[in-house]
Amino acid sequence: MHDEPLVLLNPGPACTTQRVRDALGRGDLCHRESEFGELLADIRAGLTRCLNVAATHESVLVTGSGTAAMEMAVISSVREGRSLLVVDNGVYGDRLARIGRANGIPVTEVTAGWTTPIDPEQVRDALVADPSIDAVAMVFHETTTGLLNPVREVGELLREFPDVRYVVDAISATANEDEDLPNIHADFICGTANKGLHGLPGMSFVLVSQPAIERLYEVPARSLYLNAATYLDAQRKGDVPFTPAVQVCYALDEAIKEFEERGGFAARVAEYRERAALVRKGLDNLSLRILVDPPHRANAVTTIHLPDGLTYAELHDELKAAGYVIYA
Ligand SMILES: *Cc1c(COP(=O)(O)O)cnc(C)c1O
Repeated sequence: MHDEPLVLLNPGPACTTQRVRDALGRGDLCHRESEFGELLADIRAGLTRCLNVAATHESVLVTGSGTAAMEMAVISSVREGRSLLVVDNGVYGDRLARIGRANGIPVTEVTAGWTTPIDPEQVRDALVADPSIDAVAMVFHETTTGLLNPVREVGELLREFPDVRYVVDAISATANEDEDLPNIHADFICGTANKGLHGLPGMSFVLVSQPAIERLYEVPARSLYLNAATYLDAQRKGDVPFTPAVQVCYALDEAIKEFEERGGFAARVAEYRERAALVRKGLDNLSLRILVDPPHRANAVTTIHLPDGLTYAELHDELKAAGYVIYA
């Protein structure tokens, strides 16, 4: 067995620094004390600032994995009697649709193969065909395959549909993909502490635009725990509706500071881009075939076809013995 810490090459949780992990030890804190209110305010402002959307978006922080943020955004984007359009070309697109259906929201899908980015015209056609659509939900970086979807192009065409809110699952894209969030014009942006921001798992967030804020007060409360309006009302007053993962918040606060001290968005994205280039050069040298075509490749994930005669389990176990964790 390898005795150094394992290097996690899975899409998330990302490897964290000692500094971020040490933040877990800041100590006990009651979330009803003013100190937690200050921490919450720092994180909420820090998230929109470090992700470059402070001028347009407000943070809603929720305890739970990234899927909690997805569910909170989806159920807050569609009014009663109206429907959701989901772009589905992978596991996470499918999850967006399943969240809608599980919450009684009528869902229409536009689909593409798992290695094909969606054509924005498909979204336009679906919207023109069905005026009941109240929101479009789409994954920025489809982690299933390492495929980027045209989130900016869809954001641009949605300007022709001013009542339609735009939900983007940017969970595996925030702080690591080239396209900067302000260019996307998304109303609900889902993110998590433990991917590009290099915090620890347990906290996720939805960044909401002004039109998104208006919408979340117009939708029925489809969930008690994941009702965005309840969180926003409380968090604007420095409060939280339910007990948050206090120590994971400490780690997120530290991760945001570290991110900004190291040069913020531009520096982190460059780091991911350079590492992806290094990995791909190595794979090319080994003549291993990458699944997604170059213009659509994300920085964060590279997916390869297994060479003949090698199973995933064998590759995984051998790499793990050498100190690296990969992901099927
Ligand atoms: C990681 C990820 C999620 C969230 O998954 P959890 O296991 O709930 O944290 C959601 N969407 C995408 C695209 C992801 O990569």
